[in-house]
Amino acid sequence: MTSEPEKTFARQKAVHRAVPVVSLDIRLDRLNRLATALLASEARLITAMSDDFSHRPAMESRLYDIDLVIGEIRHAKRHLKRWMRTRRAPVPLIYKPARAEIRPQPLGVVGIISPWNFPVQLALAPMVAALAAGNRVMLKPSELTPRTSEELASLIEDTFTEEEVATITGGPEVAAAFSALPFDHLFFTGSTAVGRKVAEAAARNLTPVTLELGGKSPAVIMPGADLDKTGRRIAWGKAMNAGQVCIAPDYVLVPRKKMLPMADAIMGAFMRFFPQGPDSPDYAAIVSDRHLARLDAMVKEAEARGAKILRLEGDIGNARKFTPTVVLDPPADIALMQEEIFGPILPLIPYDDPQEALDFVAARDHPLALYVFSEDKDEQNLWLDRSISGGVTVNDTAIHVGFGTLPFGGIGTSGQGAYHGRAGFETFSHLKPVVRQAKWNGMAMAEPPFRGWRKRA
Ligand code: NAD
Repeated sequence: MTSEPEKTFARQKAVHRAVPVVSLDIRLDRLNRLATALLASEARLITAMSDDFSHRPAMESRLYDIDLVIGEIRHAKRHLKRWMRTRRAPVPLIYKPARAEIRPQPLGVVGIISPWNFPVQLALAPMVAALAAGNRVMLKPSELTPRTSEELASLIEDTFTEEEVATITGGPEVAAAFSALPFDHLFFTGSTAVGRKVAEAAARNLTPVTLELGGKSPAVIMPGADLDKTGRRIAWGKAMNAGQVCIAPDYVLVPRKKMLPMADAIMGAFMRFFPQGPDSPDYAAIVSDRHLARLDAMVKEAEARGAKILRLEGDIGNARKFTPTVVLDPPADIALMQEEIFGPILPLIPYDDPQEALDFVAARDHPLALYVFSEDKDEQNLWLDRSISGGVTVNDTAIHVGFGTLPFGGIGTSGQGAYHGRAGFETFSHLKPVVRQAKWNGMAMAEPPFRGWRKRA
């Protein structure tokens, strides 16, 4: 029996095969429809996200889920005509006077699997890129944010025909069947463990994948850092969405003598951000009881192993709030230092010289992001030259994700491929090389019978 996702896929595939070209006007119309629908549903989506998390500040939902997607749509609309243009390519001397060009072409039917932590942004930002590139899209949003997924599904149903964009909802079983469909491209955002499964399923169909995964992104404090400013920026990156951010600073490497002043600066910033403590309306809750219990267990293990714990004081009325927590010098073999934290817990790891810090990062999986803090250019460049990560922000956290002008993606276990802006358009396009032979065939001398073979000089 053919399942619903298979039928939808077959319908999208059939229309793509019948009409593989998609004009600029059609692409712009799809992007406009998405922007209009997103703005019209903004209030409902913000409420749904807050319900799914049990509380989430409206401002965070607006900035990082709605505005970021609107920004991507605006950027794509502004540049799409140029991105779609056939580009002339240089012609090697022996092929002249042939002509060479690169023609971006839609891939066809693409699948997008998205996670719960920014449930609108991570479903729709890849969709913007896929639609700009002229594709048909099937989306599988996260089951952990069911109200938001429902809102997304109805927004999509009201805005697009099923042949343009369709939503398939469900949990891991549905997701596994979804990733087994023979898409022309599969775009996955989520954990590294599930990313491996998605890559395996896609490989069976030779479906190319983009994997936007997770990992432990370090923040490195160099001797030339301004501690107050650094504390505020790290605390901001960690408090956003209560640390449930793929590019949140996961742990901090800090010169040993500066560990305590750094902890004070970070805790001081948490206090200024949330004067009422964790119950502040500007601080998000944790997505589920299971995720909360995991964070709790991590801190308990650190405490049992002798690490000093600093917590933002205050009542916790909402049972799913987890107060911002700093952990000083935890042992390396506990869960906190082995797994991606994905919550508002920040370990501070002291180092004695910068080489030790470089070695610490180099000995681990390549992170999705790296943050270096220093007012000294040489100290900044040391990390830019010598470390490997998906992306970097210097003297701040997380903001590189907002630049539509920069590719966003991981490396190694934190992901492969990239999107946002032109990088997203190219991820979802086939850059088809074309040669137009000239009237006069400059390669006639390559036709047999071969005469006049000359030895190399
Ligand atoms: P997850 O991997 O558990 O789930 C992501 C999606 O995969 C969900 O839609 C889920 O239904 C689906 N899924 C589950 N099992 C599947 C299977 N067998 N085959 C195919 N799909 C399957 O991730 P999560 O808990 O929702 O999100 C948190 C993780 O995502 C963190 O590791 C975080 O770092 C990462 N993340 C990365 C980025 C990025 O841009 N790189 C952004 C956000 C989150």
